[in-house]
Amino acid sequence: MKKKATTSESRWTKNLRLPQEVLRPVQGFLQAELHRLLAKEKALKKSDPFANPDRTLDNAADDTDAAEQFGHAQTEAIQKHIRMRIIQIRKALARVKIGKYGICERCGRFIDTRRLMMFPETTLGVECERELRAKKKSKAGA
Ligand SMILES: [Zn+2]
Repeated sequence: MKKKATTSESRWTKNLRLPQEVLRPVQGFLQAELHRLLAKEKALKKSDPFANPDRTLDNAADDTDAAEQFGHAQTEAIQKHIRMRIIQIRKALARVKIGKYGICERCGRFIDTRRLMMFPETTLGVECERELRAKKKSKAGA
């Protein structure tokens, strides 16, 4: 019987899959984290002074309180960070579903387990992330 030639890539993707015993707790953790972040995002929206509908009533338009401005900028930065984490966790959960969790989305290699333990929502290996970050940086600097 002749063996069919397979490309190295398809051999990789066929064998690369984390066992259910590993995936299940990770999925549970990510889902819990997602719920926590969604609740936090909601709470932040409420606490943002700029989101308060009564605000225009007790504040003249050109007389914005500096502390309020600062609070808004800070809340916005935190909100942005939370939104990005939510997106990343959803992405990681989607990869659990299709059986690609723990595999770098860029190069298709296994992500270092220590890295996964530290950042369970990551979908990139450390080298690929470094490369992408460097690319972003050089783009931003241009
Ligand atoms: Zn990679």
